[in-house]
Amino acid sequence: MTDSTPPIASFTHRHLLGIEGLSPVEIELLLDRSESYVEQNRQADKKKSVLRGRTIINLFFESSTRTRTSFELAGKRLGGDVINMSVSTSAVKKGETLIDTAMTLNAMHPDVLVVRHADSGAVKLLSEKVNCAVINAGDGAHEHPTQALLDALTIRRRKGRLGGLQVAICGDIAHSRVARSNIHLLNTMGARVRLIAPRTLIPVQAERLGCEVFHSMADGLVDCDIVMMLRLQTERMKGNYFPSIREYFRFFGLDYDKLSRAKPDALIMHPGPMNRGVEIDSELADDIERSAIREQVEMGVAVRMACLEIMAGNLPDPWQRND
Ligand code: ASP
Repeated sequence: MTDSTPPIASFTHRHLLGIEGLSPVEIELLLDRSESYVEQNRQADKKKSVLRGRTIINLFFESSTRTRTSFELAGKRLGGDVINMSVSTSAVKKGETLIDTAMTLNAMHPDVLVVRHADSGAVKLLSEKVNCAVINAGDGAHEHPTQALLDALTIRRRKGRLGGLQVAICGDIAHSRVARSNIHLLNTMGARVRLIAPRTLIPVQAERLGCEVFHSMADGLVDCDIVMMLRLQTERMKGNYFPSIREYFRFFGLDYDKLSRAKPDALIMHPGPMNRGVEIDSELADDIERSAIREQVEMGVAVRMACLEIMAGNLPDPWQRND
């Protein structure tokens, strides 16, 4: 954190629903605060009492391993009480479950709800019904703001900056909330973004997102500083988007040969879970000279600590909250 870092109270959003709409100053503030937790997380004693007395509920309507664990660790390391709730939406009408669950939890006076849902917009809807702060842990193919923040922190630590970097986001862009949040963040911070994917996996009018679009890894990766790979999100696919996994890997899977088009010190990233041999060569994924994939996971906890601290710090006094 620098002396010129604005105080956390200057982040005035009640909820963290997405990166879209955040200013460069707000993004820097979140990243600087996260940075301050990286060292703490490497100490034997990782605990602080910033969130002592606060209740955080992880409400996951869609499965998750790393994001849920990461939020849980973040809340506990800041001294908060963390409850995990996984809700299956399979047997019930989704709209009813969402609002009913939100109202039930609201009555228990949580301070922060961390919510993941399979439908885009569901987390925003829920945030309109509760008195606490809401953090979006991924809504459909819409946004996953803490993933973009942890990616940005990883890049900033490795490259010293975000502005001016050439970043390639490759693979299943159409179904990816990670891609959307990253595009907003990287564009806002002055990086240049390329999207590389088969035509079937690029959203219509992707150029409108302020990115260059490529359908060949050989062309798109030229001189890139950062190569972000995405998982094929088959759970969101309706129909056939590519002939076979083997074909997909051949043309769009990252291997040493394709990577040679990028800058010699290009960093490889992946939000996980990773499908080895589908979007990325297994050996390359484990190559610590090139891959920042494990570091991304580490940065995730620091980012979520900062987000929880800032969002909980923004809440009005409980007696003024009407809840
Ligand atoms: N974990 C990320 C997400 O929740 C990426 C993925 O699932 O492929 O969106």
